[in-house]
Amino acid sequence: MGKVSSIRLKTGEEIARIRAASRIVAQVLEILENAVAPGVSTFELDQLAERHCRECGGVPAFKGYYGFPASLCASINEEVVHGIPSRRRVLQEGDIVSLDFGVLYQGFYGDAAITLPVGRVSERKQQLIQVTEEALYKGIEQARIGNRVADISRAVQEHAEAAGFSIVRQYVGHGVGAQLHEAPEVPNYCTAGKSTPRLLEGMVLAIEPMVNMGGYAVKTLDDHWTVVTEDRQPSAHFEHSVAITATGPRILSRRDSPGSE
Ligand code: MG
Repeated sequence: MGKVSSIRLKTGEEIARIRAASRIVAQVLEILENAVAPGVSTFELDQLAERHCRECGGVPAFKGYYGFPASLCASINEEVVHGIPSRRRVLQEGDIVSLDFGVLYQGFYGDAAITLPVGRVSERKQQLIQVTEEALYKGIEQARIGNRVADISRAVQEHAEAAGFSIVRQYVGHGVGAQLHEAPEVPNYCTAGKSTPRLLEGMVLAIEPMVNMGGYAVKTLDDHWTVVTEDRQPSAHFEHSVAITATGPRILSRRDSPGSE
Protein backbone atom coordinates (compact mmCIF):
# COMPACT_ATOMS: atom_id res chain seq x y z
CA MET A 1 0.00 0.00 0.00
CA GLY A 2 1.16 3.54 -0.64
CA LYS A 3 1.52 6.71 1.31
CA VAL A 4 -0.99 9.45 1.97
CA SER A 5 0.91 12.64 2.70
CA SER A 6 3.54 11.22 5.08
CA ILE A 7 1.25 8.65 6.69
CA ARG A 8 2.25 5.09 5.87
CA LEU A 9 -0.68 2.76 5.28
CA LYS A 10 -0.09 -0.87 6.23
CA THR A 11 -1.01 -4.04 4.36
CA GLY A 12 -2.78 -6.87 6.16
CA GLU A 13 0.52 -8.69 6.40
CA GLU A 14 2.20 -5.66 7.96
CA ILE A 15 -0.65 -5.31 10.46
CA ALA A 16 -0.15 -8.98 11.39
CA ARG A 17 3.50 -8.19 12.09
CA ILE A 18 2.61 -5.18 14.24
CA ARG A 19 0.19 -7.47 16.08
CA ALA A 20 3.01 -9.95 16.70
CA ALA A 21 5.18 -7.20 18.22
CA SER A 22 2.23 -5.78 20.16
CA ARG A 23 1.34 -9.20 21.56
CA ILE A 24 4.76 -9.33 23.23
CA VAL A 25 4.09 -5.85 24.65
CA ALA A 26 0.76 -7.06 26.05
CA GLN A 27 2.42 -10.11 27.63
CA VAL A 28 5.08 -7.92 29.23
CA LEU A 29 2.47 -5.56 30.69
CA GLU A 30 0.54 -8.53 32.09
CA ILE A 31 3.70 -9.87 33.74
CA LEU A 32 4.38 -6.42 35.24
CA GLU A 33 0.79 -6.10 36.45
CA ASN A 34 1.28 -9.32 38.40
CA ALA A 35 4.63 -8.12 39.77
CA VAL A 36 3.70 -4.61 40.92
CA ALA A 37 3.49 -4.46 44.75
CA PRO A 38 4.82 -2.38 47.62
CA GLY A 39 8.57 -3.00 48.00
CA VAL A 40 9.25 -3.78 44.33
CA SER A 41 11.69 -1.45 42.56
CA THR A 42 11.18 -0.12 39.06
CA PHE A 43 14.58 -1.66 38.23
CA GLU A 44 13.11 -5.10 38.95
CA LEU A 45 10.17 -4.32 36.67
CA ASP A 46 12.57 -3.25 33.92
CA GLN A 47 14.46 -6.55 34.26
CA LEU A 48 11.26 -8.61 34.07
CA ALA A 49 10.12 -6.68 31.00
CA GLU A 50 13.38 -6.98 29.11
CA ARG A 51 13.76 -10.69 29.93
CA HIS A 52 10.34 -11.63 28.56
CA CYS A 53 10.80 -9.43 25.50
CA ARG A 54 14.11 -11.06 24.60
CA GLU A 55 12.83 -14.59 25.34
CA CYS A 56 10.17 -13.92 22.70
CA GLY A 57 12.82 -12.83 20.19
CA GLY A 58 11.94 -9.16 20.51
CA VAL A 59 14.11 -6.11 21.10
CA PRO A 60 13.11 -3.51 23.72
CA ALA A 61 12.22 -0.55 21.53
CA PHE A 62 12.93 2.21 24.01
CA LYS A 63 16.40 1.04 25.08
CA GLY A 64 18.86 3.45 23.52
CA TYR A 65 16.08 5.39 21.74
CA TYR A 66 17.53 8.92 21.76
CA GLY A 67 19.76 7.44 24.47
CA PHE A 68 17.03 6.26 26.87
CA PRO A 69 18.93 4.11 29.39
CA ALA A 70 16.38 1.33 30.08
CA SER A 71 13.83 -0.94 28.41
CA LEU A 72 10.76 0.17 30.35
CA CYS A 73 9.40 3.63 31.15
CA ALA A 74 8.17 3.54 34.77
CA SER A 75 6.58 6.78 36.01
CA ILE A 76 5.37 7.06 39.61
CA ASN A 77 2.63 9.44 40.86
CA GLU A 78 3.43 12.97 39.57
CA GLU A 79 5.70 11.49 36.91
CA VAL A 80 3.82 11.55 33.62
CA VAL A 81 6.01 9.60 31.19
CA HIS A 82 9.63 8.55 30.54
CA GLY A 83 10.49 7.69 34.16
CA ILE A 84 13.83 5.86 34.30
CA PRO A 85 13.77 2.54 36.21
CA SER A 86 16.06 2.51 39.24
CA ARG A 87 16.97 0.28 42.19
CA ARG A 88 16.31 3.36 44.35
CA ARG A 89 12.74 3.78 43.11
CA VAL A 90 10.83 1.35 45.31
CA LEU A 91 7.05 1.26 44.96
CA GLN A 92 5.10 2.26 48.09
CA GLU A 93 1.57 1.43 49.15
CA GLY A 94 -0.67 4.17 47.75
CA ASP A 95 1.47 5.00 44.70
CA ILE A 96 0.26 4.74 41.16
CA VAL A 97 2.76 3.67 38.51
CA SER A 98 2.55 4.11 34.73
CA LEU A 99 4.36 1.44 32.71
CA ASP A 100 5.07 2.04 29.02
CA PHE A 101 6.74 -0.62 26.89
CA GLY A 102 7.64 -0.95 23.22
CA VAL A 103 8.90 -3.95 21.25
CA LEU A 104 10.65 -4.29 17.89
CA TYR A 105 9.93 -7.74 16.46
CA GLN A 106 10.82 -8.86 12.94
CA GLY A 107 10.98 -5.32 11.63
CA PHE A 108 7.83 -3.90 13.24
CA TYR A 109 7.00 -2.09 16.46
CA GLY A 110 4.27 -2.43 19.07
CA ASP A 111 3.68 0.14 21.84
CA ALA A 112 1.32 0.14 24.85
CA ALA A 113 1.05 1.47 28.39
CA ILE A 114 -0.96 0.93 31.58
CA THR A 115 -1.23 2.65 34.96
CA LEU A 116 -1.53 0.46 38.04
CA PRO A 117 -2.33 1.10 41.70
CA VAL A 118 0.25 -0.11 44.23
CA GLY A 119 -1.71 -1.78 46.99
CA ARG A 120 -4.59 0.41 48.15
CA VAL A 121 -4.69 3.90 46.67
CA SER A 122 -6.89 6.95 47.32
CA GLU A 123 -10.32 7.06 45.72
CA ARG A 124 -9.26 10.04 43.58
CA LYS A 125 -6.19 8.22 42.26
CA GLN A 126 -8.31 5.16 41.50
CA GLN A 127 -10.72 7.42 39.62
CA LEU A 128 -7.84 8.99 37.67
CA ILE A 129 -6.71 5.53 36.55
CA GLN A 130 -10.23 4.46 35.62
CA VAL A 131 -11.10 7.63 33.72
CA THR A 132 -7.81 7.58 31.78
CA GLU A 133 -8.38 3.99 30.67
CA GLU A 134 -11.99 4.77 29.75
CA ALA A 135 -10.77 7.80 27.77
CA LEU A 136 -8.44 5.53 25.80
CA TYR A 137 -11.36 3.28 24.85
CA LYS A 138 -13.52 6.29 23.94
CA GLY A 139 -10.74 7.33 21.59
CA ILE A 140 -10.34 3.85 20.12
CA GLU A 141 -14.08 3.73 19.41
CA GLN A 142 -13.56 6.71 17.05
CA ALA A 143 -10.68 5.05 15.17
CA ARG A 144 -12.85 4.35 12.15
CA ILE A 145 -12.54 4.89 8.40
CA GLY A 146 -13.95 8.28 7.45
CA ASN A 147 -13.46 9.89 10.85
CA ARG A 148 -10.58 12.28 11.46
CA VAL A 149 -7.77 12.21 14.02
CA ALA A 150 -9.64 15.01 15.83
CA ASP A 151 -12.59 12.65 16.46
CA ILE A 152 -10.24 10.48 18.53
CA SER A 153 -8.78 13.53 20.27
CA ARG A 154 -12.19 14.98 21.09
CA ALA A 155 -13.53 11.73 22.56
CA VAL A 156 -10.50 11.36 24.82
CA GLN A 157 -10.51 14.99 25.93
CA GLU A 158 -14.24 15.19 26.66
CA HIS A 159 -14.17 12.08 28.82
CA ALA A 160 -11.16 13.15 30.88
CA GLU A 161 -12.27 16.76 31.33
CA ALA A 162 -15.83 15.74 32.28
CA ALA A 163 -14.29 14.09 35.36
CA GLY A 164 -12.43 17.30 36.25
CA PHE A 165 -9.04 16.07 35.04
CA SER A 166 -6.76 17.70 32.46
CA ILE A 167 -5.09 16.47 29.30
CA VAL A 168 -1.33 16.71 28.79
CA ARG A 169 -0.62 18.83 25.68
CA GLN A 170 3.11 18.44 25.29
CA TYR A 171 3.07 14.73 24.44
CA VAL A 172 0.79 13.00 21.95
CA GLY A 173 0.06 9.65 20.35
CA HIS A 174 1.46 8.67 16.97
CA GLY A 175 1.45 6.32 14.04
CA VAL A 176 3.37 3.09 14.62
CA GLY A 177 4.75 0.45 12.24
CA ALA A 178 8.20 0.03 10.72
CA GLN A 179 9.12 3.04 12.88
CA LEU A 180 8.29 3.49 16.56
CA HIS A 181 6.97 6.99 15.94
CA GLU A 182 5.34 7.72 12.59
CA ALA A 183 2.89 10.29 11.26
CA PRO A 184 0.27 11.30 12.12
CA GLU A 185 0.41 12.85 15.56
CA VAL A 186 -2.60 11.80 17.66
CA PRO A 187 -3.21 14.52 20.24
CA ASN A 188 -5.49 13.87 23.20
CA TYR A 189 -7.01 17.34 22.86
CA CYS A 190 -8.57 19.35 20.04
CA THR A 191 -7.26 22.59 18.59
CA ALA A 192 -10.04 24.85 17.31
CA GLY A 193 -9.94 25.38 13.55
CA LYS A 194 -7.15 22.88 12.98
CA SER A 195 -7.70 20.36 10.19
CA THR A 196 -6.50 16.84 11.03
CA PRO A 197 -5.95 13.81 8.78
CA ARG A 198 -8.84 11.66 7.64
CA LEU A 199 -8.60 8.09 8.99
CA LEU A 200 -8.02 5.49 6.29
CA GLU A 201 -7.94 1.71 6.18
CA GLY A 202 -4.43 0.50 6.99
CA MET A 203 -3.45 3.26 9.40
CA VAL A 204 -2.04 2.01 12.69
CA LEU A 205 -2.13 4.48 15.57
CA ALA A 206 -0.72 4.42 19.09
CA ILE A 207 -3.47 6.20 21.01
CA GLU A 208 -2.18 7.24 24.43
CA PRO A 209 -4.00 9.62 26.74
CA MET A 210 -1.89 11.17 29.49
CA VAL A 211 -4.29 12.61 32.07
CA ASN A 212 -3.41 14.82 35.05
CA MET A 213 -5.37 15.14 38.28
CA GLY A 214 -4.46 18.84 38.47
CA GLY A 215 -3.32 21.22 35.73
CA TYR A 216 -2.08 20.11 32.33
CA ALA A 217 1.36 21.72 32.55
CA VAL A 218 4.37 19.40 32.66
CA LYS A 219 8.13 19.79 32.73
CA THR A 220 11.21 17.60 32.33
CA LEU A 221 13.48 16.89 35.31
CA ASP A 222 17.26 17.38 35.33
CA ASP A 223 17.75 13.74 34.29
CA HIS A 224 16.56 14.99 30.86
CA TRP A 225 13.93 12.23 30.68
CA THR A 226 11.42 12.15 33.51
CA VAL A 227 8.38 14.29 32.72
CA VAL A 228 6.47 15.47 35.81
CA THR A 229 3.38 17.58 36.38
CA GLU A 230 4.29 21.16 37.29
CA ASP A 231 1.87 21.09 40.24
CA ARG A 232 3.20 17.66 41.29
CA GLN A 233 -0.27 16.16 41.30
CA PRO A 234 -0.60 12.58 39.98
CA SER A 235 -0.87 11.61 36.33
CA ALA A 236 -2.04 8.45 34.54
CA HIS A 237 -1.26 7.01 31.09
CA PHE A 238 -2.87 4.27 29.00
CA GLU A 239 -1.93 3.30 25.46
CA HIS A 240 -2.87 0.78 22.78
CA SER A 241 -1.62 0.24 19.24
CA VAL A 242 -4.76 0.19 17.08
CA ALA A 243 -5.29 -0.69 13.39
CA ILE A 244 -8.03 1.01 11.38
CA THR A 245 -9.75 -1.73 9.41
CA ALA A 246 -12.83 -2.17 7.22
CA THR A 247 -14.56 -3.81 10.17
CA GLY A 248 -13.60 -1.12 12.70
CA PRO A 249 -10.79 -0.52 15.18
CA ARG A 250 -8.59 -3.52 15.94
CA ILE A 251 -6.58 -3.33 19.15
CA LEU A 252 -3.24 -4.92 18.26
CA SER A 253 -1.82 -4.67 21.79
CA ARG A 254 -4.78 -6.36 23.49
CA ARG A 255 -4.08 -9.33 25.72
CA ASP A 256 -4.73 -12.80 24.41
CA SER A 257 -7.94 -14.33 25.59
CA PRO A 258 -9.35 -17.81 24.89
CA GLY A 259 -10.27 -17.99 21.21
CA SER A 260 -8.50 -14.77 20.14
CA GLU A 261 -6.03 -14.68 17.23
MG1 MG B 1 3.67 5.60 22.33
